[in-house]
Amino acid sequence: MKNLLVVSCVSDDVKAPLSMYILKNFTADVVAGVDKYSKEFDAETIYLLPEGEDVSGLNGEIVHTSQISPTLNNPYSVAQVLSGNLPRPMIQDDYVAVYDGKAVSVITPEAAYGMTKGFEEKFVAINKGENTEIKKVNVGQPVGEFAAVDGAKAVLFGGLKGKFVSGAEAAKLKIDETEKFSSITIYDESECMVDACVQLMNKAYEMSCGKCVLCREGTSQFKQIVTEMTTGKAKMSDLDLIKEVSELISIGAYCPFGQSMTKSLTSAMELFADEFEEHIKKKSCKCGKCYKQAELYYIDPDECIGCGECIDACPEDAIEGKDGFIHIIDQDLCEQCGKCVSACDEGCIKTATKLPKLPKKKTKCGKW
Ligand code: SF4
Ligand code: SF4
Ligand code: SF4
Repeated sequence: MKNLLVVSCVSDDVKAPLSMYILKNFTADVVAGVDKYSKEFDAETIYLLPEGEDVSGLNGEIVHTSQISPTLNNPYSVAQVLSGNLPRPMIQDDYVAVYDGKAVSVITPEAAYGMTKGFEEKFVAINKGENTEIKKVNVGQPVGEFAAVDGAKAVLFGGLKGKFVSGAEAAKLKIDETEKFSSITIYDESECMVDACVQLMNKAYEMSCGKCVLCREGTSQFKQIVTEMTTGKAKMSDLDLIKEVSELISIGAYCPFGQSMTKSLTSAMELFADEFEEHIKKKSCKCGKCYKQAELYYIDPDECIGCGECIDACPEDAIEGKDGFIHIIDQDLCEQCGKCVSACDEGCIKTATKLPKLPKKKTKCGKW
């Protein structure tokens, strides 16, 4: 069987956009590394790039994809995407992924660059707020020498698969070749760690390819529970639930993404136990990030005409009611998306941080 080498530029962590950076800025070095590998294995080459990206001087066919996934460093997942399917990995020692009659292997621009220039240096994406700076650093160098981490509230190493440590600990860590040091995200004192976890879990849910139930359901549950911590709906027992489910997922999820994506949340819960407790027990956020936004949606019982238009607009099936009766939003199900507001021509779906008195049982319109 012939061989196919795919240079995957679509498997980066969202906070470590290294592949395209290295490919664009060090094209000749990447091409030389790819050339070395493809000659050794007598392979044809495809560069798999995100939609809209182009780089000249590459030594192979360019294929674009709209799929960006942490599983796209897996040959089977890459073969699936080349065939027009969703990225889904296959991890089995003796499994050969095949595309177009050729055995697929995958390399990243980072690895190709290393094959040319050696692995004594490493590219690191340093994220702070909305900004990302990519630096080339030496393996073995302490993080504190090139990133302002000392004094930070927390530092996340490794992005979606990563772990939180304190700023002081981060400063002492020495760079190694692993993915852990590809993405360093710095959080300062003004940032809420519960909200940070909401953002991470939303992204993890988006990135889960859906192949295995543990990761698909786990990311969905984590996203929901952590969001509830920012709106006053979570319970202290949810923290234990997260820990228990995390252990199951880290053992049973199919690929390294699923096995590791729980660590950011559990390490934040450990490092910032007080902050999580404050959100759940006191329903407050000292950074002013969370509860300020917790506007609750309700239907004004004096104005609802019971037309039912809002029911179909709600993606969470959170609105109850029947023709001619005052409709009610189930606060346990409502995700505060606001979609029902524009569906109500009467303008009777409103928001408030504290709910007014509302009907608890079926009430005819005009009888409230
Ligand atoms: S662990 Fe998640 S990303 Fe990996 S195969 Fe399962 S569902 Fe897909
Ligand atoms: S805000 Fe969204 S989730 Fe809540 S009731 Fe309206 S449509 Fe449903
Ligand atoms: S669309 Fe408005 S008026 Fe009609 S049932 Fe819903 S809330 Fe009531």
